Amino acid sequence: MQPDHRFLDDMVDTATRVEPARIVDNPYAETWDAECDVLVVGVGMAGVSAALRTSEDKSIDVIAIDRGDGGGASKLSGGVVYMGGGTPSQKEAGLEDSVENLANYLEFETGNIVRQDTVRRFAAASPKVQDWLESYGARFGGPATDEKTSYPNDASLYYSGNEVTVPGRARASAVQRGHRAKPPGGGEPTKLSGQYLLPPLIASMEAQPNVRFFRQTRATRMVVDKDGAVVGVEVLRIAPGFAAWRHAKYMAAVNHFVVAVLGVADRLKGNIVGLERKAKPMRIRVKKGVVLSAGGFIYNRTMLEKTSPDYLGVSPLGTIADDGSGIKLGMTVGAKTDHLDRISAWKFLYPPAGFTKSVSIDGNGERLVNEEFYGARTGEALFGRAGGKGWLIMDAPLWKLVVDEMHTMKKMFFQKVQFKAIENDYTTSADTIEELAQKIGVPADRLARTIADYNAAIDAGKSDAMDKGEKLRRKIIEAPFFANDIGLGAKFSPTSAITVGGLVVDEDSGEVFSSEGGKVKGLYAAGRTAVGMCSHYYVSGLSLGDCVFSGCRAAETIRGRGGVDALI
Ligand SMILES: Cc1cc2nc3c(=O)[nH]c(=O)nc-3n(C[C@H](O)[C@H](O)[C@H](O)COP(=O)(O)OP(=O)(O)OC[C@H]3O[C@@H](n4cnc5c(N)ncnc54)[C@H](O)[C@@H]3O)c2cc1C
Repeated sequence: MQPDHRFLDDMVDTATRVEPARIVDNPYAETWDAECDVLVVGVGMAGVSAALRTSEDKSIDVIAIDRGDGGGASKLSGGVVYMGGGTPSQKEAGLEDSVENLANYLEFETGNIVRQDTVRRFAAASPKVQDWLESYGARFGGPATDEKTSYPNDASLYYSGNEVTVPGRARASAVQRGHRAKPPGGGEPTKLSGQYLLPPLIASMEAQPNVRFFRQTRATRMVVDKDGAVVGVEVLRIAPGFAAWRHAKYMAAVNHFVVAVLGVADRLKGNIVGLERKAKPMRIRVKKGVVLSAGGFIYNRTMLEKTSPDYLGVSPLGTIADDGSGIKLGMTVGAKTDHLDRISAWKFLYPPAGFTKSVSIDGNGERLVNEEFYGARTGEALFGRAGGKGWLIMDAPLWKLVVDEMHTMKKMFFQKVQFKAIENDYTTSADTIEELAQKIGVPADRLARTIADYNAAIDAGKSDAMDKGEKLRRKIIEAPFFANDIGLGAKFSPTSAITVGGLVVDEDSGEVFSSEGGKVKGLYAAGRTAVGMCSHYYVSGLSLGDCVFSGCRAAETIRGRGGVDALI
């Protein structure tokens, strides 16, 4: 075992602390506070999927632990799960999809980040995921919408990625696959749907006779035997009672956007860590395997600085427990990591859908990205190539169309704030393109040429240089001209991000690879602690979809039922 301690020096914030692994000569001779076959570390979508799927074998004894109450970023999320190939909801809405069509599309999004047969396996399992989640209390359904949106208000089934774009259609016929979870008790969603999706799953997990769930319990150290096989985990547990109640309240509050706006998150974090310092150390003996499903590391600024400093200005999306502890725990026992520099930064240009008709530019006045692409591709263009600077250029009729749309559409609370800022603070106007360029600080000749080229291609009947769909192309000609800031300056239109790199797993089994070759015996990883389906390009729903897939994959292996047919 060759431990990797690269990130163990980020100790400024004790909340992210992970200790080097403890090596024991003989696990049987040790004293343990609890014992189980399988320990699941972190109960978000990946962890709850792993625990539920494992618990279906009643001979396996599972302990699931979570630093908070469970739910993690998954509970805060939009609750959109990417599913297709003919799900019950798709069928009900009369949408035609197939496993083949879904796999073809996903190959476009996943690149070579996972093997093609893994994509096909994900696609083959996908039509069964909805029923499986619903069997544990989640709820999905229609109606479907054709609307171009980053999050549907009135529908539950939508194009949540790049399905309708020219490159997307070239791969597969466009079908709505973003399934937004619904309230389990009926009715239409009024909140972000992660709040409907996770609670019933966690309640079902706790109801299993062979699962124990320890809340307010943080994994801090791996325990291995002399051969490097994982045999246990050390944790800090706040016993149920007043301290645990306070910890839960602080954890819930610290991730709330109002807390971020008020700037009191650090104080709350101090309280959380203070309670954890007084928590009871416990050693949990594990006989079959540990599943690390503790999320990513977007809240660990030190890790971000080391892996992907260009993204330090983005808004972290998740919970403070996305501190990389799952990845670091794996690294202490020699696990291999990859793509830690890969951040999925989401810059959604729509709604308002009118923005897709604009021309996006970078700080040099050059075209930035196909404006109808899903926000993760736009985010990558902004940060990967443009240093976080970008604008949308519009002319007078297009700006009017955008404003009308913002005024008339049904809005969620965050869209109200965002649209107001777009209209009042983030948009600059001028009578000529050159003057506009000067006002926003980009080279006037280049911007003028970019717009002239864009218009000329339309006049000449040529296809768009960035493959934008024909319906979205219109010339930018009528003064005054407008530039909407989509860069880091636009605080109420933030670029939010998650990390998508992590521990490298065997794609057939979910076992964690060792950096020395072979595998770390007894160790599995799932969700954003691992490299997965969304580690190349994320589209809405693909992270949660991957959490179910990877969590179940680890469970299937532990149960001795690996293989395509056994999954879901
Ligand atoms: C606002 C928002 C909207 C989003 N919308 C979507 C969407 O609609 N669809 C989609 O696919 N993705 C979405 N995402 C991204 C997605 O939610 C996450 O990528 C995904 O939830 C990660 O799931 P996970 O199970 O890997 O981690 P999490 O859900 O974060 O769960 C990890 C759990 O591990 C616990 N933990 C961490 N460290 C430890 C430790 N040391 N010991 C014990 N427990 C620990 C945490 O408390 C947490 O509960 C969204 C994210 C946000 C924040």
